[in-house]
Amino acid sequence: MQITEIYKSLQGESTYAGLPCVFVRLTGCNLRCTWCDSEYTFQGGRKMTTEQVHDAVLRLSPKRGLVEITGGEPMLQGREVVPLMQRLLDDGYKVLLETSGERPLETVPKQVVKIVDVKCPDSGEGETFCLKNLEMLNAHDEIKFVLSSRTDYDFAREFTERHRLEQRVNAVLFSPAFRKDASGARASSQCLLDPQELAEWMIADNVPARLGLQLHKFIWDPAVKGV
Ligand code: SF4
Repeated sequence: MQITEIYKSLQGESTYAGLPCVFVRLTGCNLRCTWCDSEYTFQGGRKMTTEQVHDAVLRLSPKRGLVEITGGEPMLQGREVVPLMQRLLDDGYKVLLETSGERPLETVPKQVVKIVDVKCPDSGEGETFCLKNLEMLNAHDEIKFVLSSRTDYDFAREFTERHRLEQRVNAVLFSPAFRKDASGARASSQCLLDPQELAEWMIADNVPARLGLQLHKFIWDPAVKGV
């Protein structure tokens, strides 16, 4: 499979935020979200076998723990990445998969925690989520909406209510998008949608979702990669 980077940091998002985690970032994405902070994954990378990736994870986290398979869009390389996830599970790791849900998810091993990033209209990639994937969700999975506007918020709220997401998954996450050219200040002023404004909308509507901030962008310079 084609890999952009493998590194260890703190998990910045989801209900696992704050935990040490190894990230396996696969190369390539078929979407082009306007606020994407991972454009460097669109090309390049290096070819690695399942065993090479497994060994790299083992070196970084020999006592096992959390591993996130991310990208890019990892399910574009499903033929290789599904056996990799199974290999990591068999070896005792807790495996998270970050995906847009545009590709089919039925081959993902059930023990993998899927964190599905449903694209909102102002990402420029709205309506790419494959609705059939709702049936592939397990109670331990999570659904995330990255929001950059009121339009995105209204979409996420309606989608959550229409599909009763809070009854399907462990958590529904509403997360303000970060400016992709953000650098220097580790501050909420770098968000495209003010977290305070989002919090007030969520409280007013009593939405069954939790506000998520990208923790790593408040710890390290938002422009720094590999953290
Ligand atoms: S799906 Fe992820 S990697 Fe692909 S363009 Fe959107 S934010 Fe970037």
